[in-house]
Amino acid sequence: MPTTFITGGTVVSATGRGAADILVDGERIAALLEPGSTVLGTDLARTADTVIDATGKYVVPGGIDAHTHMSMPFGGTTASDDFESGTRAAAWGGTTTIIDFAVQKFGERLQDCLATWHQMAAGQCAIDYGFHQIVGDVNDASLSALRELPAEGITSYKLFMAYPGVFYSDDAQILRAMQIGASTGLMTMMHAENGPAIDVLVGQLLEQGKTDPYYHGIARAWQLEEEATHRAIMLADLTGAPLYVVHVSAKQAVAQVASARDRGRNVFGETCPQYLYLSLEEQLGAPGFEGAKWVCSTPLRSRAERHQDHMWQALRTNDIQMVATDHCPFCMKGQKDMGVGDFSKIPNGIGSVEHRMDLMYQGVVEGRITLERWVEITSTTPARMFGLYGRKGVLAPGADADVVIYDPDGHTSIGLGKAHHMNMDHSAWEGFEIDGHVDTVLSRGKVVVDAGEYIGRKGDGRFVRRDPCQYLI
Ligand SMILES: [Zn+2]
Repeated sequence: MPTTFITGGTVVSATGRGAADILVDGERIAALLEPGSTVLGTDLARTADTVIDATGKYVVPGGIDAHTHMSMPFGGTTASDDFESGTRAAAWGGTTTIIDFAVQKFGERLQDCLATWHQMAAGQCAIDYGFHQIVGDVNDASLSALRELPAEGITSYKLFMAYPGVFYSDDAQILRAMQIGASTGLMTMMHAENGPAIDVLVGQLLEQGKTDPYYHGIARAWQLEEEATHRAIMLADLTGAPLYVVHVSAKQAVAQVASARDRGRNVFGETCPQYLYLSLEEQLGAPGFEGAKWVCSTPLRSRAERHQDHMWQALRTNDIQMVATDHCPFCMKGQKDMGVGDFSKIPNGIGSVEHRMDLMYQGVVEGRITLERWVEITSTTPARMFGLYGRKGVLAPGADADVVIYDPDGHTSIGLGKAHHMNMDHSAWEGFEIDGHVDTVLSRGKVVVDAGEYIGRKGDGRFVRRDPCQYLI
């Protein structure tokens, strides 16, 4: 097996940092060594097939983005990144594993849907990938299919309390699914927004002529996120199902998650970079139709109400456990512009898969989180939450050699053209400056990004079968 020796860097984990060299043998990490040490008298810096000098840099486990939507069908169109372009952009940004969603539409057999998504991803990916199962049609057949998912290496499924007539599940359906979650150990992931109430507000706003993207955020009021989060927590409490609330954006919803955790419940919360950095007023409220770039659900929240500061604080205190992107990009031309004159027709989603590691690292630079917490919320906790830990999320002997060499003296300007690699005609992050840089990325021992160049191949990434959640209380 070809060996790679990463020398001179500071290895950072969720629990500490220190100078160490890493020996990679084939696809796995063989050893972490004290700097300058020899193995059986062999100087690895001279004998390894590849030597990577990480002097002055951080060496961290590859990022795990546990919430992406490649080729997601939504609102009559399809997310503009497919598995090839989306995972390549992820690799560029230091993410070496995604967990995407197999999307069961209403009326479709769950097993058929999963087979379709396997077909879409197989041989296309630059990095490893797993699936969560979206259940868009909770009925007897899909409930019994849910029980078979762990044997397929899929240990989580997602329900929607939003989008009536599309993905929506009512309380009875949620309760029945959660009973299966409790008995099988499947993690229930919840999009927690009160969809029927939102639809009433959407109709009323449009009738009043309030059609701009800004009103997407007004219709999806924080009260409807808090209420749904509370309801999901209570149903999980009743059934004993573990619950993972996706894309928490309102500080009041954070409080619901925190309060459940304080009662010892297996309730977890995810947030996304957009809820830490962007706002209702600045982005959704941008002049004209510009705000459409940032139409996503849950929506961006008010800066005046300080949701963003609360979210950073929740990341520090572990009231929120991890950061994913909810990567679901749509182009302005031909996709987002379907909603000119009617914000409810704008496809929901932002593209961020390439920028998550950088954007969260900027939180370290600005003193909002520690370096170790950065590793924890972007890699180690996602691995534990979704049953990958040991193989992923940690740099230790036997783990997959998914490694990012990050330069704290480098710089990344996010913007258009060559400054990002997602399949979009704009960037939701244009103008963001990062005081750090992803230098080198290894995916299972293979260098896929080096010195700003992608040198991997489509098909490098493999489907990863996941174990049950390793984060339960
Ligand atoms: Zn999503």
